[in-house]
Amino acid sequence: MNFAPHLERLRLLRPVRGRLAAALLCMGAGVLIQLGFPRAIAWLIDHAEQLRQTGIPPHLVLAMLGAAILLALVSALRFYLFQSASQHIVTRLRRQLFDILIRQPIGFFDRHHVGELTSRLHGDVMSLHESLTVGAAHVLRSLCVFGGGAAMLLSLSPLLSLPLALFIPASLYLGKRSGNSYRERAREVQASLADSGKVAQEHFANVRLVHAFNQQRGASARYESATARALAAALSNARLLSTFQGLMSLLLYLALISTLCFGAWLIGQGRLSVGELTAFIIYATMVTEAANALTDFWGSWMRTLGATDRVFELLRLAPRDEGGAQPPSLSGRIVFENVGFRYPQRPAQAALEGVNLALAAGETVALVGPSGAGKSTIANLLLGHYAPGQGRILFDGFDAATLAPAALRRHVAVVEQEPALFSGSIADNIRFAVPEREVTQDEVEAAARRAQAHDFILAFPDGYDTVVGERGVQLSGGQKQRIAIARAMLRDPAILILDEATSALDAASETLVQAGLDQLMQGRTTIVIAHRLSTIVSADRILVLAGGRIRQQGSHAELLREKDGPYAELMRHQLAQYGRLDAPLAAA
Ligand code: ATP
Repeated sequence: MNFAPHLERLRLLRPVRGRLAAALLCMGAGVLIQLGFPRAIAWLIDHAEQLRQTGIPPHLVLAMLGAAILLALVSALRFYLFQSASQHIVTRLRRQLFDILIRQPIGFFDRHHVGELTSRLHGDVMSLHESLTVGAAHVLRSLCVFGGGAAMLLSLSPLLSLPLALFIPASLYLGKRSGNSYRERAREVQASLADSGKVAQEHFANVRLVHAFNQQRGASARYESATARALAAALSNARLLSTFQGLMSLLLYLALISTLCFGAWLIGQGRLSVGELTAFIIYATMVTEAANALTDFWGSWMRTLGATDRVFELLRLAPRDEGGAQPPSLSGRIVFENVGFRYPQRPAQAALEGVNLALAAGETVALVGPSGAGKSTIANLLLGHYAPGQGRILFDGFDAATLAPAALRRHVAVVEQEPALFSGSIADNIRFAVPEREVTQDEVEAAARRAQAHDFILAFPDGYDTVVGERGVQLSGGQKQRIAIARAMLRDPAILILDEATSALDAASETLVQAGLDQLMQGRTTIVIAHRLSTIVSADRILVLAGGRIRQQGSHAELLREKDGPYAELMRHQLAQYGRLDAPLAAA
């Protein structure tokens, strides 16, 4: 038997060991009191005649009452201590898992769906709650009751204990057999729950698209089929469990009936009193219940083991090595030396090949080219989301591979195509750019002013404290972009990556966004994934990419001179389609 998975989970108990020790004390006290009761009952029955004449002695009544109150107290305390220990463990585990996941390289998120990860974080971790402490408490209590009860049974009548001696090993054996099959099925249930989480998350996140294409029914059908597998696995587990329960109940009653018959015969022989048989039956019930609890626990423990297998696999993921040198400060010079790259998920296709490029500090470069040309891949490599497969990228002469990614990213800021805002205030969203230190309100406002966002923010009744995101104010595309610009402004990076929005804003909004961007780009090396001709034309240099290679580079005027070049082709296409320069650039 492999003990590692058991030990791995039991180690989670370490931080709450004080609480657990106190809970165990309460439990021990409770079991002792409980074990005393049947003896008291036996005494009362066998002395019924005598008590009828003298009455029950008051000290006995008081002692029993005191025991009942003490039992209630220790039970309540035990329950609270075990429950709270379990909640602490689950929360701590969730935090630990989130910590590890959020630090994974971007490639990890290409392989794992967010819905699946959320389901692991919540559902899978929760399954530990029941079995790890509440279940473990139950099992310890059952062990004590089992041991104490068995001792009482033997002291009352070793002969009468024989039927139970047959029943208990049989029930423990059955429990172990079924526990092993639970584990596999639980893993399957959890995997299919994660799958259905993925489907739900995807459809909720894209609910507008679902409605726009009248796909509500399709969405429900997809969710239904995703949940069908979880249902089938859970039902098969339930079938196994019910067969097991049925068999256990049969064995239990056979054992009790034979004990009763045998006990009645012993009373007839004068070898046992009625009180003793009553106490024996009560102890026998306690012992069989405890044995049942032990086998039940084994089943639920194995289910938990299966359900949390994936969680522990994720916990074992090495946190990303954030080692590397800290560049002193960067001026923004960037060199690509024969850079080649393939996404880990698509090793057969080169996303970039033989890219050579040298950007001077402060230069603005527009990346253009058809969809899939490799523009975003260049941005991804600059941000250190992936490392180049061939060649190297140098920042101010430092090889990116030798620099700490976090230190490098401190000098880079991104303004995304569809800026993402977190639920929180506008000020929090701008402050998001600088995690290393406290940012003052003045700094936030100064950044917003330069990003042309200050006025519209103040127009909200709550100003900078306006809550945005899912449960807050919905901002227009242009407003979101200006907040993203303010965010980048606050970061004050040497290198700026702009992913221009493809959708056109209205003229007024466009002017404001452009003014914000102009401010932001001043004095920084800027790489624009350009979709607007006006941006392209005003760039210091244009790189025309296709199929992961640089096909042409130069200024607008230089590139146009090559009449049959890809750039001239792109321009002809643009003018033919829109007849103007400021329209979004059509994908060629
Ligand atoms: P677009 O203008 O459509 O955004 P792009 O020029 O930015 O295109 P990239 O996103 O750089 O193109 O993509 C280059 C190639 O890499 C494409 O073939 C694309 O399918 C592939 N690719 C992009 N991202 C990934 C990823 N995360 N995993 C696997 N392949 C990817």
